[in-house]
Amino acid sequence: MELELAPLNLDGIDATHRPTVIAGPCSAESEEQVMTTAKQLAAEGIRIYRAGVWKPRTKPGGFEGHGEPALEWLKEVHEEVGMLTATEVATAAHVELALKYGVDILWIGARTMANPFAVQELADSLKGVDVPVLCKNPVNPDLELWIGGLLRFNQAGLKRLGVIHRGFSTYEQSLYRNLPMWHVPIELRRRIHNLPIFGDPSHIGGRRELIAPLSQQAMDLGFDGLIIESHCNPDAAWSDAKQQVTPDVLNFILDKLVIRDSAA
Ligand code: PEP
Ligand code: MN
Repeated sequence: MELELAPLNLDGIDATHRPTVIAGPCSAESEEQVMTTAKQLAAEGIRIYRAGVWKPRTKPGGFEGHGEPALEWLKEVHEEVGMLTATEVATAAHVELALKYGVDILWIGARTMANPFAVQELADSLKGVDVPVLCKNPVNPDLELWIGGLLRFNQAGLKRLGVIHRGFSTYEQSLYRNLPMWHVPIELRRRIHNLPIFGDPSHIGGRRELIAPLSQQAMDLGFDGLIIESHCNPDAAWSDAKQQVTPDVLNFILDKLVIRDSAA
């Protein structure tokens, strides 16, 4: 199957030296945390910044993101640090606000991708907008649902599409927070050849020690890029503290990756 796609054109990094990397904290917590982390990442050569502004939390009562004020901080990252910015959108209202503040890249979270009504609403809200959209896999290993979500965006006219493999929810005791089940993204790439694919070792592993090996596995399988959670003070993070690394540790991990020309 071929979707009608256009290149993501996210940055000019030579893929033979480093994959395209999107990095930043799980959540935008404060202006200071957002800006400090962005400056540290930029100093390590990272050009695309991620931060959640609306956070899908399992239970109510936790930190669910700052919303609109945090978009102001992402704008500051773009304007003052010069990075591209990315955030998760889950509703048409999120899309409207993210575009209003000039967020460069949108991603769709795993929980949202499991809901065709939500995906259709998002696709409709993006009609006529030329923005890169990265679709995470649905929480469950349902390849057809993942493809269906991509088709909804593509049929709404979005061509700069990519996917993020963040692993699949499990009730089993496992080393991983979300099982990688690598055969699922590999089958997706077999079905849709021209689709950029990012690995998300942070959400697959759920712990920082697994970021390096999972990133290497993604590279060995020929993935195009990585999205990795990085925070200026990971242990103090308001969400996903165990899986975040400092920008200098991230740089160390990326430097050790072996990028083979003949990846499968
Ligand atoms: C995230 O990227 O912080 C996030 C909430 O991810 P996922 O949708 O993969 O759980
Ligand atoms: Mn997270």
